[in-house]
Amino acid sequence: MEHFDLIVIGSGPAGRRAAIQAAKLGKSVLVVERRTRLGGVSVHTGTIPSKTLRETVLNLSGWRERGFYGLSYRVKKEIEGKDLGARLQKTLDYEIEVLEHQFARNGVRTFAGEARFKDDHHLVVADQNGDEHLFGFDFAVIAVGTSPFRPSNIPFDDHTILDSDSLVAEPRVPRSLTVIGAGVIGIEYATIFSALDVPVTLIEPRESYLDFIDREIIEEFSHDLRKRGMTIRLGAKVDRVEKDAQGWAITILTDGRQIRSDMLLYAAGRMGATSDLGLETCGVVPDERGRLKVDPATFQTDVRNIYAAGDVIGFPSLASTSMEQGRIAALHAFGASMPPAPEFFPYGIYAVPEISTVGLTEQQVRAQNIPYECGVARFRETSRGHIMGLQSGMMKMIVSLETRKLLGVHIVGEGATELIHIGQAVLNLGATLDYFVENTFNYPTLAEAYKIAALDAWNRMPRTKPIAEVMDEPEIELTRRKVAGKAGA
Ligand SMILES: Cc1cc2nc3c(=O)[nH]c(=O)nc-3n(C[C@H](O)[C@H](O)[C@H](O)COP(=O)(O)OP(=O)(O)OC[C@H]3O[C@@H](n4cnc5c(N)ncnc54)[C@H](O)[C@@H]3O)c2cc1C
Repeated sequence: MEHFDLIVIGSGPAGRRAAIQAAKLGKSVLVVERRTRLGGVSVHTGTIPSKTLRETVLNLSGWRERGFYGLSYRVKKEIEGKDLGARLQKTLDYEIEVLEHQFARNGVRTFAGEARFKDDHHLVVADQNGDEHLFGFDFAVIAVGTSPFRPSNIPFDDHTILDSDSLVAEPRVPRSLTVIGAGVIGIEYATIFSALDVPVTLIEPRESYLDFIDREIIEEFSHDLRKRGMTIRLGAKVDRVEKDAQGWAITILTDGRQIRSDMLLYAAGRMGATSDLGLETCGVVPDERGRLKVDPATFQTDVRNIYAAGDVIGFPSLASTSMEQGRIAALHAFGASMPPAPEFFPYGIYAVPEISTVGLTEQQVRAQNIPYECGVARFRETSRGHIMGLQSGMMKMIVSLETRKLLGVHIVGEGATELIHIGQAVLNLGATLDYFVENTFNYPTLAEAYKIAALDAWNRMPRTKPIAEVMDEPEIELTRRKVAGKAGA
């Protein structure tokens, strides 16, 4: 029996980072992965495939140019499934190659097979031939992620009625699409297909969606989607799904209404992939959705030498946060010093248009009774926005009235997931809105929206110093013209 300082189950972002961090501390590390190739959901069916599909759709459809050339503009007239798939394979191959190289460079061993616990210091791994191998460990990180939830009232066939895994396995362009579940995954795919001019109906049982995002951003986003013809049915509960004689998916709602579509994506939840892990043998107890409870600072489960990280521990279920959790778990296991986790992490939703957010929403600020002011900038107020032909997109900034510190930044529109990192830096460094007012931004950029939004808030806040003291004259003129009309500068 081979023994390792650390065994990691799962090679997604959490497992990968835990393994490499432990190897960098000089520990012997084994990663067990049941798929034939490394990378996890992130590389094979989640983050990378969905973002590659999105990029392909935006490029081939000419989406980014439609502001100038009209709604009928297309780079490729007939976009087919094979067009969507072509870029996917290349991207995946590259990602996996990078990962394999990273493991090899750091001396991380890998083993292909399905792992289950034998007890709290041993793991049994069944390889592809069904042969079982026993490994011992001092520490383990459970980084098994999640699988799509497939309820019994949905007759999945992975061609017409799919989950997010089967959607990317053989992508096709449907004549119409119903998406059940307005969570991040449902929203992303609904808007990606809508950008291909596929009629999309989005169904959500709750009366609102993406509740962790600032409501004003969601209002703007919903307006955008409805304007381009997407149907959003909130408060609509699905009774069942059937297939009719022509092979169309029929979604039957509890109020009797029916929606017929060429393709149906079920994206209402995921389950922790823990059912076959033999957790009962090591003392770790999953919840009813297969998720594991951990100490949020160390990622230790109730069994002190077993850690869990990534989607298997629940919110926020992002590749970005999963990596950090895996790294912290490995640092803690081997007693290495851990930097304090930043208070705020960014959230990116790669819908069309993108949404990204960091810090407190206006709803959270109100709930905490923090005196605040908001500043808003529309992308069409920036010269870059004009050049790009942007018709929509906005940034909302929330600032403390007492300290002038930035409390939150919320963006919907082109480049939101990149732009947010400026706000993230200012927020986590505890800086004030004066940073944006006093600093020079590249021109023309969408990042200028920060300055416009900051000035918009500044205009409504109690004065500490006259604006002329904090800006160059030409800059005042330029920015004032943009902010005027809106804030009455
Ligand atoms: C459609 C979609 C789009 C997404 N888009 C984004 C995005 O844009 N940005 C973002 O940050 N996040 C995104 N995510 C989320 C992101 O993919 C996850 O947060 C991330 O993959 C979680 O990483 P992980 O390490 O926890 O597990 P995973 O990536 O799920 O990997 C877990 C691995 O464990 C393996 N495994 C499971 N059980 C066993 C076992 N018993 N033995 C051996 N191996 C096992 C699995 O085969 C899998 O490879 C998206 C997810 C989906 C589904």
